Amino acid sequence: MGNLLKGKRGVVFGVANNRSIAWGIAQAAQREGAELAFTYLNEALEKRVRPLAESVGSELVLPCDVQNDSDIEAVFAKLKDAWGGIDFVVHSVAYANADDLKGRFHETSREGFALAMDVSAYSLVAVTNKAVPVMNKGGSIVTLTYLGAAQVVPHYRVMGVAKAALEACVRELAVDLGPDSIRVNAISAGPIKTLAASGISDFRDLLGAFEVRSPLRKLVTIEDVGDTAIYLLSDLARAVTGEVHYVDGGFNITTA
Ligand code: NAD
Repeated sequence: MGNLLKGKRGVVFGVANNRSIAWGIAQAAQREGAELAFTYLNEALEKRVRPLAESVGSELVLPCDVQNDSDIEAVFAKLKDAWGGIDFVVHSVAYANADDLKGRFHETSREGFALAMDVSAYSLVAVTNKAVPVMNKGGSIVTLTYLGAAQVVPHYRVMGVAKAALEACVRELAVDLGPDSIRVNAISAGPIKTLAASGISDFRDLLGAFEVRSPLRKLVTIEDVGDTAIYLLSDLARAVTGEVHYVDGGFNITTA
């Protein structure tokens, strides 16, 4: 048990199950002394999220579809009631239609493009907007991105576009919120076998290439990402904002 987040309270968006990156971050945050709240997308996922939340001592487990502004508003209203203020937000949410991750990129539908952008990029803006009024000074917001934002990765298609937008949103938000002493950063994780990743064709090939070509020659885990998130969520990163931190064993520098 550490104390890097001792006395801090935060909400985690994006736990679907115990393989979720958000869960790796939540476990690390609890280990470092944080008090946590969780959101879940729907009733099916609530059944998975609630026991996980309980296992890290959290009773604040709230519904939230990030496409719905009133859901987001209700989450932060509840957190304000329960805690008064919050210190951090973990945004670990993305979605695209399976069809838009196959096919050719120019065949992406208008609806599919908008959906991927709404859930995977705009939602950071919407969540931040409702979080800010209840955030304490020194607050930290962390989102999850992927190398596909910066370069073409096979089968990532519309998600690459959404992640590029997400990273641009991180920079905009960082500039906006810097004067309020609120920091906004992204972690660009290497490929990890999760529910969301199962929507990407040939994901196994991506994992195989990663293991062979990343400088550290091993796959990234949700624990690896969790520990980097602790740095960004804690006061250790008090002068760090608007950045993308790669947790990918250096893969991004070997694939240009
Ligand atoms: P995951 O499936 O465990 O998590 C994705 C989460 O998004 C789920 O909890 C899901 O419920 C949530 N979600 C989807 N639509 C939503 C909506 N409308 N409202 C609220 N929540 C919604 O998969 P993961 O891999 O842990 O993904 C978490 C984040 O990490 C995503 O942003 C993903 O793009 C990113 N990421 C994943 C990898 C990887 O290889 N797995 C690599 C880099 C970045």
